[in-house]
Amino acid sequence: MNKREKIENLNIEIRNCRRCRLSETRTNAILGEGNIDSKIMIVAQAPGESEDKEGRMFIGPSGKVLDELFGQAGIRRGDIYMTNLIKCKLPKYRKPKRDEIESCSPYLDREIEIIQPDIIVTLGHFASSYILEKYFIEKPQDFKQVYGRAFYTKSGKVILPLRHPAALLYNPELKDVMVEDYRKISTVMGELV
Ligand code: SF4
Repeated sequence: MNKREKIENLNIEIRNCRRCRLSETRTNAILGEGNIDSKIMIVAQAPGESEDKEGRMFIGPSGKVLDELFGQAGIRRGDIYMTNLIKCKLPKYRKPKRDEIESCSPYLDREIEIIQPDIIVTLGHFASSYILEKYFIEKPQDFKQVYGRAFYTKSGKVILPLRHPAALLYNPELKDVMVEDYRKISTVMGELV
């Protein structure tokens, strides 16, 4: 089975998944999208209202911010593969619960296995925390210190945790630091070439 077929099979499972309570409140389970041959995988937290309705990733207000940050960093959506830690909308934008992460994260693990990215860019606390733990990377006590810093796994992957684009919607004063941090995606890419 080739990569495309493996991802399509996985996506059929995700679309029909009822493993956790979030299946009762979603409209669509949101699938990963983008370039399956990309060396960069972006891992966000979970779809929002707009994404849930339309069935696509990052099409709401956070998506606009993400596109702006990507634009400043010289990255196009078509260059990367994007997915979520949690595939279904979290009601009222609440945080994901531990059992929801446990139910849904095996899908992300399988995406990583299929896509084989060299760089995993995690957006926000939950996605960053999950991926750092998955690769046994110790987190600093003050979690904010992970943002914009590259971590290296034993197998040579780079993990780059960044603030979630939604953070800029609530804290516009983060703009300069976030623009600078998102530019590090290109820097890390350059180092791996
Ligand atoms: S959040 Fe994940 S585990 Fe829960 S129903 Fe959706 S796809 Fe399944």
